[in-house]
Amino acid sequence: MALREILVVPHPVLKQVSTPVEAVDDELRALMDDMLETMYAAPGIGLAAVQVGVPKRVIVMDLAGPDGPREPRYFVNPEILWASEETLPYEEGCLSVPEYFDEVERPARVKLRYMNYQGETVEEDAEGIYAVCVQHEMDHLEGVLFIDYLSRLKREQAVKKVRKQAKAA
Ligand SMILES: [Zn+2]
Repeated sequence: MALREILVVPHPVLKQVSTPVEAVDDELRALMDDMLETMYAAPGIGLAAVQVGVPKRVIVMDLAGPDGPREPRYFVNPEILWASEETLPYEEGCLSVPEYFDEVERPARVKLRYMNYQGETVEEDAEGIYAVCVQHEMDHLEGVLFIDYLSRLKREQAVKKVRKQAKAA
């Protein structure tokens, strides 16, 4: 396993639409293993492949965080089959927008379909932080960042902050 570099705004690859995966094979599992380690090391609770420069429809997640007992989840070609009208506001952050947090409102519950680490198709209901996180990560597959939901002023402030940090590092 290897740690990958996480791209940050305003990197143009983050705006790319990711392409569907044809098969869950050892090569893809190696990518998912790397993504998970990269996410734990960051630390973060979710990561899309495009964030490490691979525009494929793949997400890893562990809502227990880096210190909890590990509960990794893997999503290949995820789809939202249904979303509730009821919404949930949540203070979001993103490894591609480090140190910036703001509130986004999304459907509170969603029904998902995806392939797991073994390539099996799974249908599942998600709510709470799970629903928030999976929708945030799935937006990455469309080239959408959580700051795209904010006002232009806030979005520019977020990018400016990240640029400043990058310069200082
Ligand atoms: Zn993100």
